[in-house]
Amino acid sequence: MFSLNEKCAVVGVYDVPEAAKYAYFSLFSMQHRGQEAAGICSSDGERLHLVKNRGLVTQVFDKAKLKKLTGDAAVGHTRYSTAGDDSILDAQPIFARYDLGQIAVVHNGNLTNSKEVRRELIREGAIFQTFMDTENLIHLIAKSQKEHLYDRIIDAVKRIEGAYSLLFLSRKKMFAIRDPHGFRPLSIAKLGDGYVVASETCAFDLIGATYLRDIKPGEMVVFEKGKEPRSIQVFEPTPHKCIFEFIYFARPDSYIFGKSVYKLRKNMGRELAREFPVDADMVVPVPDSGVAAALGYAEESGIPFELGIIRNHYVGRTFIEPTQEIRDLKVKMKLNPISELIKGKRLIVIDDSIVRGTTSKKIVQILKDAGAKEVHMRISSPPTTGPCYYGVDTPEEKELISARMSTPEIKEYIGADSLAYLSIEGLIRSVGNDQSYCKACFDGNYIVPNKNG
Ligand code: AMP
Repeated sequence: MFSLNEKCAVVGVYDVPEAAKYAYFSLFSMQHRGQEAAGICSSDGERLHLVKNRGLVTQVFDKAKLKKLTGDAAVGHTRYSTAGDDSILDAQPIFARYDLGQIAVVHNGNLTNSKEVRRELIREGAIFQTFMDTENLIHLIAKSQKEHLYDRIIDAVKRIEGAYSLLFLSRKKMFAIRDPHGFRPLSIAKLGDGYVVASETCAFDLIGATYLRDIKPGEMVVFEKGKEPRSIQVFEPTPHKCIFEFIYFARPDSYIFGKSVYKLRKNMGRELAREFPVDADMVVPVPDSGVAAALGYAEESGIPFELGIIRNHYVGRTFIEPTQEIRDLKVKMKLNPISELIKGKRLIVIDDSIVRGTTSKKIVQILKDAGAKEVHMRISSPPTTGPCYYGVDTPEEKELISARMSTPEIKEYIGADSLAYLSIEGLIRSVGNDQSYCKACFDGNYIVPNKNG
């Protein structure tokens, strides 16, 4: 089986004393992007040091492990869970020795031609240790005949296709690069005399780094001691940034692609209220994913916002569980309505997306069981009709309820009194009428073909 490098978080810290500590806190703030495994590789200028394991950031690292990660440069990663291959081998950073020395790489995204590249590399004699597409990069770099790592990275990325926000660490330097479409985010900040590069800006807030800018689509930034970071536009930028970061994935306190996630989520709620108003007594978010959009909906409609459903925060995301029975149970473990508040009331319930339909169905059921008179589901994104090949962990098409059923059929399936989704046009208006986003999961426009089959 080929395990894809799903939605993850990456961080790089350069020229900052105790870099691994800052990488650790950065990863902690981006834990929502991947809960399966975590790792950090540091450089003391002579050697690279690696710690990675399965588990949450706080489980993988303790004082003793962080102490091992000496040096003033580090790269780190948290990995998102997929069914199946979750062995320690598939944790990142990936570390390797090659003719130029030692190297570590972390990757957020998903390569769409990884199978063909791997097949070719194997034919030429390469031996792989993991199922990760990211390992291809190490081989491509090792194979390149160029004298400098910098040129080898360029050789390697020219061979790969798809979504990648990558960080490479060598003994002396760090390299950050984003694919020409800029599918996945990657931002730079200043910390003391050094720099931090991270998937989300919430990492900078935690460690007190000052946001400078985003790495541009197709741009590589080289960090070297005693020099200003050097920027090279490796590819002509053709922006196609993931709109789902705004809808669901990123933390609301982050700026993604230079925009406030919270603000855009509220805009989506406002648009939704304008497109699909309904007479009701209160607006209730599905916590936490629907909160910002529900606030926007309530503000726009003038209908009071109430926290009618309470979430137990000690339960992981339900989406990632492999079997249907466990998913059902976990929704009940996670969400509980306040009956006192909702009994006899007409509710507008807001969530960010419906994927398989499990969550919405359960929510309608628990609200009705608790005495709600009417439940009107409003979703702050369009129907998810296609999988993501660019790094978001969506299930296969056959599992996506909107790929199989019409909105009226889904309404019946989940048992709601009405159901409506934000339109694609409404979504685009919410993000500032900007057309440079990838929304393939909603409109099927896959700009980079998936060659992995
Ligand atoms: P489902 O029960 O399969 O319809 O899942 C819908 C719920 O999963 C919604 O509450 C979303 O907030 C959440 N969700 C949507 N996309 C993802 C994703 N890629 N990973 C994890 N959760 C997601």
